[in-house]
Amino acid sequence: MIAYCTHCWREVNSEDKVCPGCAADLTLDHRTYEEKLIGALAHPLPEARERICWLVGEKQILQAVPDVMRLAKDDPDLFVRKAALESLGALRDPRSALLLRAISRCENRFLASVAAKSLLAIGHGEAGASASETKSGHWRN
Ligand SMILES: [Zn+2]
Repeated sequence: MIAYCTHCWREVNSEDKVCPGCAADLTLDHRTYEEKLIGALAHPLPEARERICWLVGEKQILQAVPDVMRLAKDDPDLFVRKAALESLGALRDPRSALLLRAISRCENRFLASVAAKSLLAIGHGEAGASASETKSGHWRN
């Protein structure tokens, strides 16, 4: 089974006691895997947050949705926000629909287009929008 080191987030074997990448002791942390991943969304390195966003979407960890939404909205790093928006698309949680819709209309076209794609992925995109909603929604891609 594939697992990830909770220190450097490289792939490790779930039987490994020590991470072959960073030599961290993998037996010390007794939080559940989901808890570790969610905790790592607050990692100080943007590259790590970006990777965790992807992983959370890949692993369908729905408990992480509120934290991923916070990153999508407020992370100072543009690529973390992009990764968070993509993760929300992968997680397909209806709780994120309002946020995705708001960001899909923001001035930042890069983030807006990513948010629009995720909105489509969760089934709340332009195609499924009601008439009153489409009136004010202009994608400018
Ligand atoms: Zn490691």
